[in-house]
Amino acid sequence: MKRFYAIVLVLCLLLSGCHMRFTHRDEIPPVSRDLEVHYVDVGQADCIFLRCDGKTMLIDGGNVEDSNLVVSYLLSQSVTKLDYVVNTHAHEDHVGGLPGVMAVFEVGAVWCPVTEYSSSCFEDFANYADQQYLELTLPEPGSTYELGQAQVTVLGPVKEYDDTNDTSIVLRVDHGDNSFLFTGDAEETSEKDILDYGMDVSATVLKLGHHGSDTSTCYQWLRAVAPEYAVIQVGEGNTYGHPHEVVMSRLRDADVQVFRTDLQGHIVCRSDGEGVTFTTNKNAPVTNPTQKTENLIGNKNSGKFHLPECSGLPKEENRVFFASYEEATAAGYAPCGNCLG
Ligand SMILES: [Zn+2]
Ligand SMILES: [Zn+2]
Repeated sequence: MKRFYAIVLVLCLLLSGCHMRFTHRDEIPPVSRDLEVHYVDVGQADCIFLRCDGKTMLIDGGNVEDSNLVVSYLLSQSVTKLDYVVNTHAHEDHVGGLPGVMAVFEVGAVWCPVTEYSSSCFEDFANYADQQYLELTLPEPGSTYELGQAQVTVLGPVKEYDDTNDTSIVLRVDHGDNSFLFTGDAEETSEKDILDYGMDVSATVLKLGHHGSDTSTCYQWLRAVAPEYAVIQVGEGNTYGHPHEVVMSRLRDADVQVFRTDLQGHIVCRSDGEGVTFTTNKNAPVTNPTQKTENLIGNKNSGKFHLPECSGLPKEENRVFFASYEEATAAGYAPCGNCLG
């Protein structure tokens, strides 16, 4: 009998030990295992910030004039270090803001398709990389890298090109059931070469190539990617006419829900490994006219969301927009008792 009590005592001690450990762990705020993808509104240019498990990646940095905006955006997200800085290709609307970013943040690695390009902003970029003793490297197609729980796969470029847009580094980032595709300004030639190479390009969310130009997002590419959502980084009233109507109509035919930085400002997509949630800082998220638009308006202060006709809408600066009831509740918002009760 004594031995029985001794065993019970040992079990109790073990259990209480476990219990204490669990309690202790609860007290530490967990690092989010969600993958956040921020399509930062830098007008007619690209800038995407990714974070998962505290690991960070910046893909492009907008134009030179966007440098301060990008730095303050990252500071507002409490970023202290960038594990990866990717310059998809050497054009100013992709590399321009990066020197300013690299002057402020510690960087782990820099990816770029070229080591030299004759423009002052690219030279600045190369100099700032040099100051942090970083080499501009082009990762091998097919190679993979960890970004916390997310995995980054290099899909392109699979060949060398004279056309700078086609030299764009193309990445797929997988997080649970969700995948994100980042294409820079890769055009049809590179898209088809990546498909011919046999890369798996399927993705939940596609960052459209070259700001929605008809030189990218060819039919075969769109069919292979088969995205549910597309994000277009494009400037309001740009002189190129981006996004081109032929691309928008391809997206409509493929039943893809479209987000645009010229209309919605900063677009943040969050993956919990199962679903994705979009939030935008202005206007309603859905711009595909063939789809039903649900302009649900959230109040950042109260955590409630409303129909646009509700009498209790928040002030402009406190608004956040959702495409659907599900997206609003997934983001932690509760329906307004008046308009949605
Ligand atoms: Zn561009
Ligand atoms: Zn370009």
